[in-house]
Amino acid sequence: MPYYRFDSARLKLKIGKIVCLARTYKKHAEEMESKMPEEPILFLKPATSVIFDRQSIIIPERTKEVHHEVELGVVIGKKGKNILEEKAGDYILGYLLALDITARDIQQKAKLEGLPWTIAKGFDTFCPISNAVPKEMVSDANNLSLNLKVNGRIRQSSNTRNMIYPVEKIVSFVSKIMTLERGDLILTGTPEGVGPINSGDVIEAELGDICSLKVDVA
Ligand code: MG
Repeated sequence: MPYYRFDSARLKLKIGKIVCLARTYKKHAEEMESKMPEEPILFLKPATSVIFDRQSIIIPERTKEVHHEVELGVVIGKKGKNILEEKAGDYILGYLLALDITARDIQQKAKLEGLPWTIAKGFDTFCPISNAVPKEMVSDANNLSLNLKVNGRIRQSSNTRNMIYPVEKIVSFVSKIMTLERGDLILTGTPEGVGPINSGDVIEAELGDICSLKVDVA
């Protein structure tokens, strides 16, 4: 099982379940021609999809269209259920930068047929993550720039303040559905600008000045 990588602490923490949100940025919902949901849309990625800085995304044979999605990741530090928004900060250990790699063609077919997104989102290597940063080093998680470049060209550029739900609300919402445990990771959704990646591409992403990540496509 994969462990988080922390810059500043010798913390050994296993990556638990990865809970992801969809359509949390209005402009991304618009580019996907999707309706804004009344409450957050959740799906899961397996911990086995995680890779780290300087590793490679592998495109599976059964997809012809794989997209990048750059996201703020929230690392949970303490077990909790029905967490109040005002208390959510107590349950957050830190933050990281994550890529929610998506087989878009498989996902679109699943959407049309009303089927789950597990295959589209769950392949090995489909969750590159940066080193994690303790929350004490982050002044405001709801105001962090989020950028992604492919082969040096900017594809996504936004800020977590454009999310329709603040981080505290997201932690609270998820904890009302499923118990959050130490080591769980929440991916908070992507802003606009998602697009295809192909073999040979180099992806570089940044979360404010606290996290960065560079991976390539094998
Ligand atoms: Mg996503």
